[in-house]
Amino acid sequence: MQPRIQLSPPHIGVLERQFLLEALASNWVAPVGPDLDAFEQAVGDRVGRRRAVGLSSGTASLHLALQVLGVGPGDTVLVPSFTFAAPANAVTYVGARPVFVDSHPSTWTLDPALVADELDRGARTGRLPAAVLAVDIYGQCCDYGPLLAACARHGVPLVEDAAEALGATYQGKEAGSFGVVSTLSFNGNKIITTSGGGMLLTDDDRLADEVRHLATQAREPAPYYEHRVIGYNYRLSNLLAALGRAQLVALDDRVKSRRDVNRVYRGLLGRQPGLRVMPVAEYGEPNAWLTCVVVGPAEFGASRDDILRQLAAQDIESRPVWKPMHQQPVFAGSTMVGGSVCEDLFRHGLCLPSGSSLSESDQARVVQTVLSTPRRRTSS
Ligand SMILES: *Cc1c(COP(=O)(O)O)cnc(C)c1O
Repeated sequence: MQPRIQLSPPHIGVLERQFLLEALASNWVAPVGPDLDAFEQAVGDRVGRRRAVGLSSGTASLHLALQVLGVGPGDTVLVPSFTFAAPANAVTYVGARPVFVDSHPSTWTLDPALVADELDRGARTGRLPAAVLAVDIYGQCCDYGPLLAACARHGVPLVEDAAEALGATYQGKEAGSFGVVSTLSFNGNKIITTSGGGMLLTDDDRLADEVRHLATQAREPAPYYEHRVIGYNYRLSNLLAALGRAQLVALDDRVKSRRDVNRVYRGLLGRQPGLRVMPVAEYGEPNAWLTCVVVGPAEFGASRDDILRQLAAQDIESRPVWKPMHQQPVFAGSTMVGGSVCEDLFRHGLCLPSGSSLSESDQARVVQTVLSTPRRRTSS
C-alpha cells in the first residue's frame, strides 16, 4: 500500500524548528512576546495593513471583527452560503442573524449583483444589514470592486474573511486588504499555519486597539484586575507566532507550489469531457489553496461520489466542496438569496489534494486514480 495522500497537510521547513527553539530558549512562552509582535508586523507589512492583531483562530478573528463593528442582536449580516461554517457561526456569536447569498458561477464567490440588490432592498425597507461578510473562496478573492461600491453606497461595512486566500490578489492588491476589517486563519490546513491561529487586519487604530483589549480578557490598565466589559482569551501565543514567522518567509514558495499543482490538474483533468476545474476570475490571481473540480456525471460517465470513492480506495483524501450554509440543519429556516449556483456546486464539486508538499509522482497518482474511475457508457 502506498502512503496516504492528504488534502492539504501542513508543510514545515527547517526555519520553523529554529524559530520555535529560539522562542523557547528566550523563555517567551507566556502568551504574548516579541515573536508575536514581529509576526503581526510582518503579516501587516505583507498584506499592506496598518494594524494586525494575532488571535487564537480565524474564527475568533471573525467574532471580534463583527463585535468591534457593533454588530449585535437584531442585526442581520450578508454571508455567502457557499463557505466553511465559521463566518456564519461568528454572526450568531454576536447575536445577529446570517442572511445567506448565492455565489457567482464564474468565481464561486459572493455574487455582487445579488448583494447590491439585497442592500438596495434593505435601504428601501429600512432594514439594512449591519455588515457584509465576504469570503475569499478556495483562495480566490471576491469581486471587491462592485461589492465595495454597493457597501459604500449604503454605508454598510464590509468584513473580509481571507482565511483561505493569503497570497492571492485582486487587481494587484493582496487578499486581506479589502475589508474595513479582514481576517486570516493559520489553521493546520491553510496555506501557512501556526498549527492553530488567526489574525485580524485593519487600518483603523481604534478598532485594532479594541480587538487587542477584548482578546486579552478586557483587562483595564490597573494594578489589580479591573474589567468594564466582557472579554475573551483570544490572543495568539508567542510560541505559535514564532512558527508563523518561519511559515511566512516561505509564503511565496507555498503559493507557487499550489499554483503549480493547480496548473497540472487543469492540464490533465480540466480538459477531460465532464470535468471542469474551478474557474479563475480575470480580475486577480488566486493562491490556489485548494484545486476543485466539478463533475458532469453524464459526460464523464461517473459522478463526483464515484470519483471520491475511487480516490478513497487508493488512500487519497478528497472532499466534496462546501455544503451550502442554507442547507445545513443548524441554519434551517434562514433567509437565502438565490441558491441554485451553490447547490449545484455542492452536488458535483470535489476538492483534490492540493498541498504545497504534494510531489509530482503523488499528483500523477491522483490524476490516474481520477481517470481510472469506472465509467458508465453513455447513450450517444
Ligand atoms: C479555515 C477557515 C476559517 C476558520 O479558521 P480557524 O482558524 O480554523 O478558526 C474561517 N473562514 C474560512 C473561510 C476558512 O476556510
